[in-house]
Amino acid sequence: MIRSFVSFLFFVTVALAEPADWIVTAKYVVTMDGARRLIEDGAVAVRGERIAAVGQRAEILKRFQAKARLDRPAAILLPGLVNAHAHAPMSLLRGIADDLKLQEWLEKFIFPAEAKNVNPEFVRWGTRLACLEMALAGVTTYADMYYFEEVVAEATKEAGLRGVLGETIINFPVPDARSPADGLVRTEAFLRRFQNDPLIVPAVAPHALYTNTEETLRACRALANRYGVPLLTHLSETKTENDDIRAKWQASPAQLLDRYGFFEGKTLVAHAVWVDEADRKILRDRGVGVAHCPSSNTKLASGVAPVVAMLAAGLAVGLGTDGPAGSNNDFNLFEEMDLAAKMQKVSTGNPQALPARQALEMATTLGAKALSLDREIGSLEAGKRADLITVSIEQPHAVPMYDVYSQLVYALKGSDVRDVMVNGRLIVRERQSLTLNAGAILAKAGEFRAMISASLRK
Ligand SMILES: [Zn+2]
Repeated sequence: MIRSFVSFLFFVTVALAEPADWIVTAKYVVTMDGARRLIEDGAVAVRGERIAAVGQRAEILKRFQAKARLDRPAAILLPGLVNAHAHAPMSLLRGIADDLKLQEWLEKFIFPAEAKNVNPEFVRWGTRLACLEMALAGVTTYADMYYFEEVVAEATKEAGLRGVLGETIINFPVPDARSPADGLVRTEAFLRRFQNDPLIVPAVAPHALYTNTEETLRACRALANRYGVPLLTHLSETKTENDDIRAKWQASPAQLLDRYGFFEGKTLVAHAVWVDEADRKILRDRGVGVAHCPSSNTKLASGVAPVVAMLAAGLAVGLGTDGPAGSNNDFNLFEEMDLAAKMQKVSTGNPQALPARQALEMATTLGAKALSLDREIGSLEAGKRADLITVSIEQPHAVPMYDVYSQLVYALKGSDVRDVMVNGRLIVRERQSLTLNAGAILAKAGEFRAMISASLRK
C-alpha cells in the first residue's frame, strides 16, 4: 500500500513536471541578465533551441523532467561568448608574417597569399579549423568577413556554431569576385540562400571606407537594408587611415560614412581606434555597434581604442579577435577580455577603468547587441536561444575563488572551457568537439601550410 502510494506520488510528480531536453547544473550560473543575477548552485533548463528557465538547481530539478542532464558541480555556467570580428578562413595563414606594419603585412603577404590560394576548399578547411578553435574556447557566435562566405556558412553550420557572416566587397579583383559589382551579385545570392537560417545571419561586408567607392558603399547599404541584414566593415583602425581620409575629404571616416548614409540600418564597425567625440556621437546616434579588437590593435600598433569613452557614450562595444593571420594569431575571447580591461587601465592611468564584469559584458551582452542579436543571445534568460558554456574551476589558476567575474576575466583561459551548447545542441562535451573531426582538420592545416609556403616562393 505504502509502496503503491509512493509510486503514485512519483507518477504525479513526473506527470506534473514540465518537459525539457536538457538540464545543465553548475556551481555558479552567471546569467548576465538585466539584474546580472549570479546564482550559486544553479541550473538552466533547455527545451528545443531555447532556454526554458534559469534558477536554483533544486527548483529547476523539481520543475522539469529532462531527457538529458549535464551536471557540473565544479564549473561556472555562463552565456556563450560572442566574437564580434574575425576572418575565420585566415586561420590557415596563422603566423605567415608577423611583426610588420599593417599596410606592408597586407600588401606584401596577405593579399598575394590570398590571391594565390583562396578558393572554396581553402575557405572550407580554414573555417572548420577556426570553428574548432573557437568552440573549444567557448565562442558560440562569431562575426566574419571574408570571401566565399557561403562556404564559411556551410562549415559554420556543420560545426554547429552561430555566425553573422559577411561577404566581402572590395575595389580590386579578389578570389570570388572580379569587381565590387560582381561581389554584390554574389552577396545577394548569399543573402537569399541563408535568409531565416536558425544559425546564420548573412551580412554584407564592404571591407573599409578606404577600399571602396562612395557608390559601392551606398549600394552595400541598400542591399543590406533590402534584406534586413547587417553591414560589417572596418573603421578608423589606424591613424594613417584617419589622417589620409581627413586630408582628402576634410571629414573623419565616421563623418564621411555618415554623409553617405552608410549607418542608416544595422551596422557593426570593427576597431574604431581613432574615433573622437564627434565620431562617437555619430556612432551612438545611428545605433552602430563596435567590435573592439585589443590583441589586433596592440600587435599592429594601431593604438588604444577609447573604449571607456565609447561605453560611457552608450555605444554597444563588443570584443573581436580579428585575425588570426598576423593581426592576432588566435581566436581566444578570454585573452581579449583580459587585454581589453588592462589596456583601458594603462591608457587611462586608472585601475578602476573597465572592470572585470564590464569586460565580460563586452564578450556577451554587448557583443550580442553590437550584432543586433541581443533579443536572441548574450544572456541566460528564459526564451533566449540556448547558447551556453561551462568553464571548469578546479585548476590551480582557478582557486580560490572570491569573485566569479574577476576569475573569468583575469585568471581563467579558453582552454578551461569544458562544454559548449549552441541553439540547444551540445557541440563540445568534456573538451571534445562532437561536430567536427579534429584529427582530420589538424592534418589538413599542415597540408595547406606546405601548399601556401610553396605558392609564395613562386
Ligand atoms: Zn579585420
